[in-house]
Amino acid sequence: MAFSNIKGHDKVIERLKGFLRENRLAGAYLFAGPKGIGKALMALEFAKAINCEKGSPDPCDSCVSCVRIDKNAHPDVHIIDPQDPEIKIEYIRQLQKEINLKPYEARKKIFIIPAAEQLNSASASCLLKTLEEPAPNSVIILVTDKPASLLKTIISRCQIIKFSAILPGYLERLLNTDYRLEPQAAHFLAYFCEGRLGHALLWKDSDILVAKNAIIDSALSPKASSGDYALAIEKLSPVSGANSRNRLEQERGALRSYFNILASWFRDIYLLKAGIPSGGLINLDRKDELRRVAGKVKFSDIENALQQISSSLLCIEQNVNTRLLLTHLRWAIRST
Ligand SMILES: [Zn+2]
Repeated sequence: MAFSNIKGHDKVIERLKGFLRENRLAGAYLFAGPKGIGKALMALEFAKAINCEKGSPDPCDSCVSCVRIDKNAHPDVHIIDPQDPEIKIEYIRQLQKEINLKPYEARKKIFIIPAAEQLNSASASCLLKTLEEPAPNSVIILVTDKPASLLKTIISRCQIIKFSAILPGYLERLLNTDYRLEPQAAHFLAYFCEGRLGHALLWKDSDILVAKNAIIDSALSPKASSGDYALAIEKLSPVSGANSRNRLEQERGALRSYFNILASWFRDIYLLKAGIPSGGLINLDRKDELRRVAGKVKFSDIENALQQISSSLLCIEQNVNTRLLLTHLRWAIRST
């Protein structure tokens, strides 16, 4: 996948190509921006572009270097596993050791740290030392969606590359044309994921419209039991990534999606009631029903439901028992 295959980040790509064309690579970069929009993917393409044997600022995808990087089998390109809950000092010590060795075959050794906010204080200080004495043949790429949680001294040593989410309308077209999602699913995912392509793609092979509608229906039906909720949440499990090693985190991800889907329903009712055009609705597939509900409920009822959902989301972050959460939610939604 060359730069041209990464959609919606043209300005970032032009900037990165400029560094290569003008031969002014920094020793360290910080790729910062919302989660799930392709920062880590861009870091990998940048690593390929830096080392591509064709020497053009766009990786060729076919030389030995590009192919090895794509297969995660290049001896000079190191990526810290983002699944680990924290980046231990051993990783950074290893990086320190490696960074001063000559590359085996690449122009530059590349070190990618995909979730830099997971550096603990010891590993962050160790990394800072490395950044203070840049190695001439290496590039470190830090990637994060929480730049504020990094040491200011680390940030100041990096060239910052800011990423923004792409516009939902653009993402909708992309999902429809490039990823062949049917129009209603493309619309829902583009707006629900707020323009984050990486997030949208996690759902691409699931029957997302059926799953999200089952959630909305089960939460709104007075007859729904906690088993119905559990079933609806289970359907969302692939969302947090099939290769996620942490089962608990996967469940929390599904639960988070569950509440966010409910929030999207009430948000849509709110917008319609406020007279906002229906094109921006997340649940556009249920436009007529949303209109009917919007005509019946009061603003204060919708605000109350949204408030309950937002407290539930907060509880998930604080690891509150999920069964309790669902009982609480049933009460809240029914009384709306
Ligand atoms: Zn190449």
